[in-house]
Amino acid sequence: DVALLWFRQDLRLADNPALSAIAGRPVLPVYVLEDGTHAPGGAARWWLHHSLVALSADLAARGAPLLILHGDPRRLIPDLAARIGAGEVHAGRQTEPEARQRDAAVHAALQEAGGRLVLHRSALLHEPHLVRTATGKPFSVFTPFARALFAALEDLPPPLPAPDRLIAAPGAPAGLEIAALRLLPRPPEPDWAVEFPTHWTPGEAGAAARLTAFLAEGLNAYAERRDRPAAPWGTSGLSPHLHLGEISPRQVWHAAQAQGGRGLEVFLKEVLWREFSHHLLWHHPTLPDQPLRPEFNAFPWTTDAAMLRAWQRGRTGYPIVDAGMRQLWRSGWMHNRVRMIVASFLVKHLLQPWQSGEAWFWDTLVDADLANNAASWQWVAGCGADAAPFFRVFNPVLQGEKFDPDGAYVRRWCPELARLPDRFVHRPHEAPAAVLGGAGVTLGRDYPAPIVDLAAGRARALAAFAAIKGGA
Ligand code: FAD
Repeated sequence: DVALLWFRQDLRLADNPALSAIAGRPVLPVYVLEDGTHAPGGAARWWLHHSLVALSADLAARGAPLLILHGDPRRLIPDLAARIGAGEVHAGRQTEPEARQRDAAVHAALQEAGGRLVLHRSALLHEPHLVRTATGKPFSVFTPFARALFAALEDLPPPLPAPDRLIAAPGAPAGLEIAALRLLPRPPEPDWAVEFPTHWTPGEAGAAARLTAFLAEGLNAYAERRDRPAAPWGTSGLSPHLHLGEISPRQVWHAAQAQGGRGLEVFLKEVLWREFSHHLLWHHPTLPDQPLRPEFNAFPWTTDAAMLRAWQRGRTGYPIVDAGMRQLWRSGWMHNRVRMIVASFLVKHLLQPWQSGEAWFWDTLVDADLANNAASWQWVAGCGADAAPFFRVFNPVLQGEKFDPDGAYVRRWCPELARLPDRFVHRPHEAPAAVLGGAGVTLGRDYPAPIVDLAAGRARALAAFAAIKGGA
């Protein structure tokens, strides 16, 4: 009764239903790096490397070392199962369309040999295919979805403990070293991840430590501080850990509830946005590429490589946008409020297709997640489920002044603006020459002049939207 334990987006030992299901049986834990359309981007690969190092050490300490492979699981997993005589392969269920197709193929191959792939609910609090509206349809609006989930989760069982010991299955082949997967930036590429370790500790222990710290420092004031990008512990920073399953949403849910406090309900609701995105991706596999609202297929986007590049590099001349894009580049993460602002700026003021922003985020976010990224971009662009209407255009200056009133966030990530007075820190282009001079800023030299006029950009976006509305 040897079993194969196939790790994918559940790189943890505690509250791992696939692991608990094979308790007491000899096991071979395996991770397969896959190449595919939605293979992890640069920043996520950095994270994955360190997460595999941590998982590998934790498994070895319990007696069952992790086998690392690189290639197509459709072939590798059934071959491996046959080689060690494992009838069952256990894993956590994934929502990504490619992953679902791959699992169906692996299951079919195993079945031919009399085995099977057993999938467990591991990454989500709910099963996307089981939660339905009263009329039996998938949800397309968040509020009723969240209400249904809150009700269903009232008797959510507690998290499962991590096993103390594992029994290694005999006959495991030799695998790869983690370094051989080449997940880290390599020369001559510059080491863009140089600052990441000061922000993050990938792995299960790092995830648990972050949850504990957030519960102590952030949960109570979450409702007031979650939109303040400069606030320490304004949000949890759990997203990259949740993406790779170094911590389960059930662990987060139970721990937050046990702690309680003023911010609890708002925080749990945010966790449910993640569930909602995965629900959407499950039912709309084209979500990463195509607008959920078909009229947006005819949207007259412009593609302007110079504009896109200025946005990517944090050189638009709008400080909150530039601070966000630089936080993303340097730390692999960006605050949610600022993600909404930079995304709105790209698709509305710059009129670039949301897919180009989605692609940049995919490559630069340590928490890059197919469902959350796609659903969020579609939400901002106004073409998704329950989306912000397209005609609501964020003004980046006013957003900056509202959510970063003293400019602490801008000063941190755009240090060339650090000496501007609060009044102009979000609008350096409006500062009198003497103020700029006093702060040591020359526009166009130390910091860019705005690449687009806000009123003109907004008018152009609304005209583009009117064109598809007229055509619909
Ligand atoms: P917290 O506020 O502490 O929330 C706790 C958890 O809830 C998060 O870790 C996350 O798993 C979930 N969550 C919170 N907000 C959202 C949301 N709006 N949508 C879905 N889940 C949410 N999130 C990703 O995980 N991966 C992405 O690739 C991603 N791309 C995004 C792109 C855009 C344009 C926007 C506007 C948002 C995107 N988000 C994405 C959602 C959100 O910004 C991040 O989940 C959040 O900033 C993570 O920070 P946190 O862990 O401190 O969040």
